[in-house]
Amino acid sequence: MHNSLIQTVPPHHCETCGNQKFHKTEKKIQYYQALSDGEVVFVEVKRRRYRCTGCGNKKWDQVSGACSYKKKTDGLVLWEKNTRNRH
Ligand SMILES: [Zn+2]
Repeated sequence: MHNSLIQTVPPHHCETCGNQKFHKTEKKIQYYQALSDGEVVFVEVKRRRYRCTGCGNKKWDQVSGACSYKKKTDGLVLWEKNTRNRH
């Protein structure tokens, strides 16, 4: 149920050659922090890497609904910001 907060989006086109066809390559699991009923929980996110069929460039999918640097959902980042402001 928490998984619905975070979605992965495959690349639309290659930034190097503009090609729009990709082969799926390796997978990895990442853990993101999310907010659930006022508690921080870990959510498993399945990431997938794609290889451009035109130039061979590899690209990870994009994470939607979460910050891929902080590994937190947008909702949690916002909640933390609001919590900090209260002090
Ligand atoms: Zn390419």
